[in-house]
Amino acid sequence: MFNSRLSRSRDMQPTPYSRLTTRILFWVVAICLFMFSAVTVLTVALERNSLYQKAQRDAQSNVTRNFAAISSGLWNFDTTGLKAALQGLTQSGSIIRAEVLNGRQQVASVQREHSDAPDFEWEAPLFGPDGSEKIGTLKISESYKDLRDLFTKNLATELVAELVKIGGMAALLFIIIYSLITRHLQTLAHDVLELKPGAPVGSISLHRRKFHNDELDTLVGSINRFREERAEAEDALQADIAMRKLVEEALQESEARLRSSEERLKLAIDAAKLGIWDWDIERDRLVWDDSMHRLYGIPPGGFGGAFDTWWSYVMREDVTQAQFDLDAALRGEREYSSEFRVQRADGSIRVIRGVAHMIRNSDGTPVRMVGINRDVTDLINAERERDRATEEVQAAQAELAQVARLTTMGELAASIAHEVSQPLAAVVSYGNGALRWLGHVPPDLGEAKAAIEGVVEAGNHAGAVLARIRELVKNRKPEYEALDVNQAIEDVLGLTGGALRARSVLVQSSLSGGLPAVLGDRIQLQQVIMNLAINAADAMESVNDRARVLRIGSKVTAEGLVQVTIADCGTGIEEGIRERIFQPLFTTKSHGMGMGLSICRSIIEAHRGKLWTSPVAPHGTEFKFTVPACNRDSEAA
Ligand code: ADP
Repeated sequence: MFNSRLSRSRDMQPTPYSRLTTRILFWVVAICLFMFSAVTVLTVALERNSLYQKAQRDAQSNVTRNFAAISSGLWNFDTTGLKAALQGLTQSGSIIRAEVLNGRQQVASVQREHSDAPDFEWEAPLFGPDGSEKIGTLKISESYKDLRDLFTKNLATELVAELVKIGGMAALLFIIIYSLITRHLQTLAHDVLELKPGAPVGSISLHRRKFHNDELDTLVGSINRFREERAEAEDALQADIAMRKLVEEALQESEARLRSSEERLKLAIDAAKLGIWDWDIERDRLVWDDSMHRLYGIPPGGFGGAFDTWWSYVMREDVTQAQFDLDAALRGEREYSSEFRVQRADGSIRVIRGVAHMIRNSDGTPVRMVGINRDVTDLINAERERDRATEEVQAAQAELAQVARLTTMGELAASIAHEVSQPLAAVVSYGNGALRWLGHVPPDLGEAKAAIEGVVEAGNHAGAVLARIRELVKNRKPEYEALDVNQAIEDVLGLTGGALRARSVLVQSSLSGGLPAVLGDRIQLQQVIMNLAINAADAMESVNDRARVLRIGSKVTAEGLVQVTIADCGTGIEEGIRERIFQPLFTTKSHGMGMGLSICRSIIEAHRGKLWTSPVAPHGTEFKFTVPACNRDSEAA
């Protein structure tokens, strides 16, 4: 817009001379010339007319004055007198030729020398002395050439004089108009042309002495005001243009983003094998895209477009549920989501999952529904397959875990026998005591009662030990509950303590108080702890030069996980086999199964934790595992 204005401005460059003044003067000179010339021509013409009339009058009076002499000369046949009279007539004035005729015969004729053709001829009768008899005719020829020449000369002189006058006046006018008006207009025009976008706005002024305000001052004032307003408008316009550019750029960017996301969406839709449908509820028109046709096994464009046609593809057994889901969405109770089976033309049955967005008018009536359908048959089959495989793996793992537990229990048999034999020995001892107190005379019933209470207590203790062992050896499904890891450690130490002591292992436990509960299977976690403890005892079997210390501890990590550490000062693990020890069936022991650590790791991972090992300086190995705390777990969920 500015460019076109500038180009227009270039066309309007001021000329070095004042066109306006020239134009004014042209018209002034033209009009004056016309008027003065007309007046001059008219005046001269009138003058010429009166000169003609005067010349005619002079000619007539000249003839009248000489009439008597001419008549007498003719009457007396005085040719010489006659010619002299005629000579007198033609000497000056307009008469160039005078002729006296007697009837048709010329009597005398005088013509001025070098005379032109006559302009006017007239005749006058000549009478005898008594005036009654016509004796001849006087024929006069007049020429006005002198008059015409005079007229032309006068006219030329007058016109030249007028022209000079007009020229002088025009020059004077030019100077006056130029100095008073057009000079300032030129300056103004120049200054106004300097008005360019972005050019600094200075006010313009007239270069003249100021006497009082006239129209030019008003014009300059208006232009200055206009310049200021225009500068403000330009600033606003520039800001507007800059803003518009920014908006346009942002728009182009978002359009590009939209295009690429549309392309990505299309790719994703194609990849995900999604069909898109659009149901115009008011007009009952259901539009399917090509993918929808593919999903339902119909050739492109084969779907008619009536909503009821869709029902014919849904399997009869699923129609009720599909109708229920649709009605619920139409009533606005929930978003549309439904799963149903469709039978294709080739007889194959596919499971379709549909979701949609409902569009309602201002009063809440559903007017349109836009949604997608997805063939989830393969997904569902895969899910079923995965569930079955998971169940099988879990069953195998449970069986393996039980085998491993039984193996461990076998190793713990001596310890278990010790644990159980202690309360049994107490029962026997309390029983004997009771019998002795009853055999007293009189029997001491108080002591006997106390001894029998001891029997009951020792019996309960033995029962509890046996119950824990039974729990451990039982093949069962994992049961997750909030449990105290410290308690699990103490239970394991309670069971294995005897066996460890028998192998000269000194247990040092440092259990952190106030541990958060973890969500886990108590038996499985106990199995892990027991396995790690037995392995530690095995690793210290050959150690004779130092105390066989087994450290077992618990704490909460910085991440809020519950961590258990079981460390020994045994032979350690060679660097080369450090990662292999977690592989199934890897063992370095002659009697080992090589399943313990592998089962421990899968148990810990099933608890969403980690199990790892690292060497301990100067001797031994430590195993650590973490499991998420209960509250943390629920937060994550
Ligand atoms: P097994 O005890 O039947 O060999 P594991 O899976 O429990 O099976 O252990 C695998 C191997 O890991 C062991 O044979 C042993 O070589 C090594 N190992 C386990 N714990 C320790 C430990 N505390 N110190 C040294 N080596 C260990």
